[in-house]
Amino acid sequence: MLKKNMEIELDIEAFTSEGSGVAHYDGMAVFVNGSAAGDRVKAHIIKVKKSYAIAKCVKIIKPSADRITSDCPVFESCGGCAFRHISYEAEAKMKREKVENAFKRIGGIEKKLDGFVGADSLCRYRNKAEYPLSFDRRLNIGFYALHTHRIVNCEDCVLSPQVFSDIVAIIRKWVIEYGVSVYDSESGKGLLRHIFLRQAQKSGDVMLCLVINGDRLPKQDKLLERLLTVPQIKSVVLNKNRAKTNVILSDECETVRGDDFIYDELCGITVRLSALSFYQVNHDMAEKLYTLAREYAQPSKDKTLLDMYCGAGTIGLSMARDFGKVIGVEIVAPAVENAKENARLNGIDNASFYNLDAAEAARLIKENGERADVIVLDPPRKGCSAELVNTVCEMSPERVVYVSCDPATLARDCKLFSEKGYNLEKLTAVDLFPRTVHVESVCLLTKN
Ligand code: SAH
Repeated sequence: MLKKNMEIELDIEAFTSEGSGVAHYDGMAVFVNGSAAGDRVKAHIIKVKKSYAIAKCVKIIKPSADRITSDCPVFESCGGCAFRHISYEAEAKMKREKVENAFKRIGGIEKKLDGFVGADSLCRYRNKAEYPLSFDRRLNIGFYALHTHRIVNCEDCVLSPQVFSDIVAIIRKWVIEYGVSVYDSESGKGLLRHIFLRQAQKSGDVMLCLVINGDRLPKQDKLLERLLTVPQIKSVVLNKNRAKTNVILSDECETVRGDDFIYDELCGITVRLSALSFYQVNHDMAEKLYTLAREYAQPSKDKTLLDMYCGAGTIGLSMARDFGKVIGVEIVAPAVENAKENARLNGIDNASFYNLDAAEAARLIKENGERADVIVLDPPRKGCSAELVNTVCEMSPERVVYVSCDPATLARDCKLFSEKGYNLEKLTAVDLFPRTVHVESVCLLTKN
């Protein structure tokens, strides 16, 4: 029988979908933080539940052949990366299996991936970072530890550009020197909540957004003066979020330097980014993802594309020149404004965007008797509603291209599609988030 505080030796068999190693003891699954599949470890039992236990790795008795030395000093405590301690080959193999297994177990579909597009860079690939702050005896600026609201201090996150670390260092010094208060999520008191940074890949331009629980920043002029040493900063925005919530940004922005946007380029499209815009965090891998989506969509001048969950319109706009017509649907109003602006900026006049719920939009389009030859779906993690899948199938498009950041909900929805006569023809995983547990997939569904 497993008991709390026991120390036992375990062979780690696999990784869970959250990236922790898993072993078995007396028929019970034991999740071992800090281990890797293939390790033999000494584990300290932290918690025993009915059907599983949680343990901490205290000693690696025999390391897995996949192990490498982590290149981040806070990897063990930070909840950001899951796999800085194993080779990328091992991570890629696991992600492949994760997608295929989701289709087998949840979707009831046996399908080998048609491809796995591995990441071309394991470091500094993010173009956006959000750093929470806390104060407990010292100032912490960094990332949450796994499953907690404790902030792990991080001086230089290796997933983000170096310039982000330089900016955070300036802000850190300014906070300490001027005694600027830091937000405490328990009491709802304190000013500075998050540092939000975004960089355009093409130009290197940076937007800094400071999220504050208040209306103004004390000693703002001192901070702005110091930030002049970072020429990439083209925009400084205050986001005023006084709500007691863990949602990072509110709708209220005030620009205190430069423009309230920066420009990037994605798949040949100029994209205007504001603090509130949704934008793929890994630019280069997003281009590879969109290229696959285009291949699956097979654009043609006599066809109409319906881009569901379109965000700032980037997928639809990247194909608009090769389709007759593009219709984008998105639930967040400012994102729809971004999409319209992006169409204008690029001289695209055959794309229209609607601020609607995807299922509702599909119903309206169908009722109006409009046809979509190709439908792109790119929902958030929770996937599409059954109602949307039904309406999409009733609209009877030739092709459905489904882009997803969660293989489990993708597999669930593909099962619904297959019940309505749409077959999974192609499935490719694209690693937009190397070193983390996340993986993106894109698939093509066609009518029987
Ligand atoms: N296709 C875009 C954005 C994908 S993220 C891109 O590649 O950049 C998913 C988008 O779905 C977000 O912009 C989110 O606001 C939107 N969304 C979430 N729920 C929705 C719903 N019910 N109807 C329409 N859009 C929704």
